[in-house]
Amino acid sequence: MSLWWELVERPTFSPESLDRKWDVLIVGAGFSGLWSAHHLLERNPDLKIAVVEKSTVGSGASGRNGGWASALYPVTEENLRKNFTAGAIDSLNLHLRGAIDEIEAFTKKNRIDCGFAKGGTLTVARNKGQLARMAKEINLNAEETASRIGMRNALGSHFTPDCAAINPAALVVGLAKFLQAKGVSIFENTTATISPDNCVSVNGRTVESKNVIRATEAYHANSRDQIPVYSLMIATDPLPHSVLALIGLNSRETFSDGSFSVNYAQRTSDNRLAIGGRGAPYAWGSRRNDATEMHRRIHHQLRELARDWFPVLADIPFPYSWGGAVAITRDWSPYVRWNNSYGELGGYAGDGVTLSYLTAATMADLVTGVATSRTQLPYVQWRSPAWEREPLRWIAINSAIALSSAADWEERRTHRSSLLMKALAPIIGK
Ligand SMILES: Cc1cc2nc3c(=O)[nH]c(=O)nc-3n(C[C@H](O)[C@H](O)[C@H](O)COP(=O)(O)OP(=O)(O)OC[C@H]3O[C@@H](n4cnc5c(N)ncnc54)[C@H](O)[C@@H]3O)c2cc1C
Repeated sequence: MSLWWELVERPTFSPESLDRKWDVLIVGAGFSGLWSAHHLLERNPDLKIAVVEKSTVGSGASGRNGGWASALYPVTEENLRKNFTAGAIDSLNLHLRGAIDEIEAFTKKNRIDCGFAKGGTLTVARNKGQLARMAKEINLNAEETASRIGMRNALGSHFTPDCAAINPAALVVGLAKFLQAKGVSIFENTTATISPDNCVSVNGRTVESKNVIRATEAYHANSRDQIPVYSLMIATDPLPHSVLALIGLNSRETFSDGSFSVNYAQRTSDNRLAIGGRGAPYAWGSRRNDATEMHRRIHHQLRELARDWFPVLADIPFPYSWGGAVAITRDWSPYVRWNNSYGELGGYAGDGVTLSYLTAATMADLVTGVATSRTQLPYVQWRSPAWEREPLRWIAINSAIALSSAADWEERRTHRSSLLMKALAPIIGK
């Protein structure tokens, strides 16, 4: 069961019939779809907008994630530099940082209580191998790190102020309610089919709309454009003060350790720990599989990791465990594509909370035909190469997952940054 939905009242959204003419029809009621509606309305409040969601608002990744509203971008700076100028990369980073503050301003103005706290984020080096690899980024020594987080074996950390912790389900529901009040029609339990000529039909009937936006991200039908990779989470109940005193995170910094096996965590507004990580196997043919969301081994590993970070959690139960899929393109690049009357956005590779706000604003610029600094950003009209066909894809992705653990082991053992990962990086596009 997901912690976030336990803390949020889930309203139902069921407006009048879809049988009318829309200016914009958006498929998918996660952050991408809903922020697209928001930014479009900001530009033209008269637009008639429908959002069609096959399940319920936020039921995709938007209501299940780690709640990091960060300025992270999935493509490394080194890879960005191959295609974009330093100016374009600076502009991207500036927009991402600004988007965190815009989300905060939006939640404050509209009284959306999603526990927003911009405490920054810490990446903690826990062995000499990680410390060596992160040497250029480390800006807090062991003592300074310990003053923020009581993580065992912390040798130093990288801190950036550009991250906020939120309850993502509270934000996505608050946003949907806000949009409904502004006249956007949100249809839940309504599956749309987009045909090759970009017509949308529901239950076999074509819906009339001048423009269509696909905002289905990892919950899109299978294709070689992107793969779904599962990320899983666990959470505690509110922790006693004695435990919190040892863990720290008094500014609600989000945090991760410096390992290659991706992990991410936050202290929630009601003083729990919510911790996530990857490592669940990739399914043949990019199939999404609800069972992977509850992969026992990965949830167990996350509990072990939490207790390794903070031995004080030894006897603390983790009553919540859940998971969801993130969408990864072959070169890890997100995309916002617009062509006359059809658009699509996504491919955030697990960094979509802030990024979707920015890509949706860009989509609104493109739909309304306004050139802005956003419409010059690297993801605009970007098309990544297709993923390899099976069985190569299955072999490569599951090998990369296994090799990440092996590279972590190598750094623990050798006290040097991993040679294995250096060899692997160009192959996996990281
Ligand atoms: C466990 C986990 C942890 C994560 N942690 C973080 C984090 O801490 N920070 C961060 O920045 N990002 C994180 N992410 C990624 C982030 O959650 C996503 O990038 C972001 O939520 C994507 O938003 P979206 O609106 O594009 O997609 P989604 O929220 O997935 O929404 C897509 C929607 O489309 C609907 N849909 C699909 N097909 C159809 C159809 N045919 N008809 C109608 N509706 C359809 C789906 O039901 C779904 O609701 C995490 C993801 C997961 C799974």
